[in-house]
Amino acid sequence: MSTYLRIAGIEKESIVDGPGIRLTVFSQGCKHHCLGCHNPQTHSFEGGQIIDIENILDMIKKNPLLDGITFSGGDPFEQAESFAVLGGKVKAMGLNVMSYTGYTYEEILEGMDKRPEWKELLYVTDILVDGPFDINKKSMMLKFKGSSNQRIIDVKESLTSNEVVIFD
Ligand code: SF4
Repeated sequence: MSTYLRIAGIEKESIVDGPGIRLTVFSQGCKHHCLGCHNPQTHSFEGGQIIDIENILDMIKKNPLLDGITFSGGDPFEQAESFAVLGGKVKAMGLNVMSYTGYTYEEILEGMDKRPEWKELLYVTDILVDGPFDINKKSMMLKFKGSSNQRIIDVKESLTSNEVVIFD
């Protein structure tokens, strides 16, 4: 079980990466290379810095105002094992977990057999913003996502009902 993450950075208090006040972890490493990506510095799997998730948990414990944690990118699903461990510990503290990914929800479901760590991360995620950024569908009016093809998914409801349920 890995407890280390390669990250591009951390925003200790964000109100733009999901509902409420959140600590956002920017994962380092992404294979999608979406045209117009706002965080191209996060694409390399060599860059960023290594951090023990215990250090992130310490930051969370110091801020009682937090509603949850957000995993942004890069693509957190490329380090799903460690993000799943972190997400599980954050949920045990009573906070919610939101994750971004360039994969679609359906791709994650299909890929879970070969990548069991995807299942672990998906199952600790409350809200998933899925799919690659599409510059042709970009809009500044969208909340918590960059292009209209991306969906903000209620993961628990979607898994229960066996169809994508959009987060309300
Ligand atoms: S998935 Fe996200 S981080 Fe990766 S290239 Fe696309 S927009 Fe950038």
